Amino acid sequence: MNDIPRRNAVCAKPPEPKDPRPSREEAEAAIRTMLLWAGDDPDREGLRDTPARVARAYGQWFAGYREDPEAYLARTFEEVDGYDEMIVLKDIRFESHCEHHLAPIIGRVHVGYLPNNKVVGISKLARVVEAFARRLQVQEKMNAQIAHCIQTVLEPKGVGVVVEAVHQCMTTRGVHKTGVTMVTSMMLGEFRENALTRREFLHVIGSPASSADG
Ligand code: ZN
Repeated sequence: MNDIPRRNAVCAKPPEPKDPRPSREEAEAAIRTMLLWAGDDPDREGLRDTPARVARAYGQWFAGYREDPEAYLARTFEEVDGYDEMIVLKDIRFESHCEHHLAPIIGRVHVGYLPNNKVVGISKLARVVEAFARRLQVQEKMNAQIAHCIQTVLEPKGVGVVVEAVHQCMTTRGVHKTGVTMVTSMMLGEFRENALTRREFLHVIGSPASSADG
């Protein structure tokens, strides 16, 4: 079983934007409609600037559509004096939005990889996480996108990515379950094939699964 993407595979690109892209005015008008629909008066003082504020916030929350995560991994360092052990960046905080309700998903990502003669600056791994998080997401998809991007561009011997997150569409509506964290993981290469490598990674990130058989 070998599901490592081929060398020429590329990271998930954001979908092509609809052409023409709606104007800023059209976006603000849509938000105004939602305020009316919720039952409030968009002309009252407190809401007058809300459509413009929400449009600006969207620009930040969804900046990932204009980012290329592959580019963050393009610059690597090979002078590591033969270092070939696992590199782990844990507790990378992220904020995303679920594509079903536009509700926040807030959590942490842990990334580990086994370098293959080249390493990448650690802040770049966090940038990759952010580029994918700042799009409309489902956790499983984001998890897979991060793992495949690192595997494809950096070509390490393996990659492990674990995502722990709270979904506000679940805590504030629907089943209203608080204190529930969703955990997903994607293991590629050595992390998938070698139980010891996987366990070392889970141990480093403090996962209870590291003490389980496997
Ligand atoms: Zn949702």
